[in-house]
Amino acid sequence: MSEDCIFCKIANGEIATELVYQTPNTVVFKDANPKAPVHLLVVPKKHYATLNDVDDKELLGELMQTIQQVTKKIGLKSYKVHINTGKDAGQVVFHLHIHILGNK
Ligand code: 5GP
Ligand code: ZN
Repeated sequence: MSEDCIFCKIANGEIATELVYQTPNTVVFKDANPKAPVHLLVVPKKHYATLNDVDDKELLGELMQTIQQVTKKIGLKSYKVHINTGKDAGQVVFHLHIHILGNK
């Protein structure tokens, strides 16, 4: 948990947010400012500022499996995934998150 991190607060329930899906180490919720008809964020419960900070292979696998499982659950067969890594790439929230973008 990193203090004043919005995604830590969402992941631990401090900020009430409807979860679309969750696994033991990840949560999925809707992006507050959607850029596609379906725009979800897949977030590890543990705080990592960026993709570059994760050295846990099991967690990396779980994040990918979460994408497979949540898209299956909502019936989204075609989608893009997107990870902004670093300020110059447009990362604004420094708690790792994977965007799922779909046009369903
Ligand atoms: P980034 O540019 O860091 O990859 O994307 C951050 C994303 O988080 C943006 O698409 C933004 O709309 C979303 N976001 C920022 N704050 C919140 C929030 O408090 N709740 C939700 N659901 N999404 C947020
Ligand atoms: Zn965090």
